[in-house]
Amino acid sequence: MPLPKAELHLHIEGTLEPELAFELAARNGVELPYADTDELRKAYQFEDLQSFLNLYYELMAVLRTEQDFADLADAYLARAAAQGVRHAEIFFDPQAHLARGVSMGTVVEGLWRALGTSESVHGVSTKLIMCFLRDESAASALQTLEAAKPYLDRITGIGLDSAEVGHPPVKFREVYEAAAALGLRRVAHAGEEGPPEYITEALDVLGVERIDHGLRCMEDPALVERLVRDRVPLTLCPLSNVRLRAVDVLAGHPLPAMLDAGLLCTVNSDDPAYFGGYAGDNFAAVRQSLGLTEERLRELARNSFLASFLEDDEERRARYLAEVEAYEFGSPDAL
Ligand SMILES: [Zn+2]
Repeated sequence: MPLPKAELHLHIEGTLEPELAFELAARNGVELPYADTDELRKAYQFEDLQSFLNLYYELMAVLRTEQDFADLADAYLARAAAQGVRHAEIFFDPQAHLARGVSMGTVVEGLWRALGTSESVHGVSTKLIMCFLRDESAASALQTLEAAKPYLDRITGIGLDSAEVGHPPVKFREVYEAAAALGLRRVAHAGEEGPPEYITEALDVLGVERIDHGLRCMEDPALVERLVRDRVPLTLCPLSNVRLRAVDVLAGHPLPAMLDAGLLCTVNSDDPAYFGGYAGDNFAAVRQSLGLTEERLRELARNSFLASFLEDDEERRARYLAEVEAYEFGSPDAL
C-alpha cells in the first residue's frame, strides 16, 4: 500500500500520456506529426524548457470536447490513486485552450465530469485551481478570470505558471486582487528559475498562500526565516527540477536542507507524463537519491495535507492525517 498523500502541484495538461494523445487525436480527426506512440514517447525526452513547452502546447490540440477533458482528468486520477494520492488540487491552463477556440465551459465542465465523481470512482477528493500563463498579458489574465465567473462554484483558487523569468508577480497584481475579492484561494509559481525576490513579491503583492516550487528561497536566509515562521507551504517537484535543469542531479536536490531548515515542503509531480513520474514516483525517487528517512517521508506526506485547501472540510483533513500517522512503511520502491 502506498503512502497516503495529497498532490498540490499538478498541471492536468501535463498528464497527457502518448497513448491518450493518439486516442484523442483519432477521435477528433487531429493529425499528430508522429508516426506512433513510440515516436511520440521519444519526443517526451525533450532537451530544455522551450522544447518541453513546444511539445506541451502542440499536444493540447487533441483536447477539443468536454469528454476529452474528462478522459484526461480521469486517467490522471486513476494513476494518482494507484500511487496513494488521496486528495488532489489540480491546475489547469484555460488561456492555452481559449486561444485554440475551446471555451471555458468546455474545459471546466469537462474536467468536472471526472472530478465530480473522483471520490466515488477513485477514492480521491479534488479541487480545481485555474492558472494564468505569466508570459501572457495582465489584461488577458483579467479576461480569463471574467470568463471563469460562471464556473466559480467549480474553482477553488488561482495560480500563475509557465515561463517565469522576465514576468515578475507584480505584473498580475490586479487579477490577484480581483480573485481575492471573489473569495478565491491564491498560489503562484515562484523561485523555480526566477530569483528569490519573486517569492517575496508573490507573498507581499499577490497575497499567495502557497509557493509553487520556491526552490531558490534557499539563496536568501531572511526569506527562509520568514517562510518557516509563517508556515508558508512550498510545493516542490523533484523529478521536474531535474528534467528542467533547475538542479543538475536529483542527489543534489536541496529538499533535505529545506526540511532541515524547517520549511513546510511537499513533494509533487508537476507534469508527470513529461517529467518521468507521478506523485509516488517522486516520493520513491527522493527516498532513493536523497536517503530520506521514513520519518522525513511521513513529514512530507503530513505536510501535503496540512498545506491543502481543506479548510472547508477539517474532518476530512484529520482523517487523511490519521492515515499518514498510521502508515507502515514497506517496500522501498512503493511510495
Ligand atoms: Zn508547475
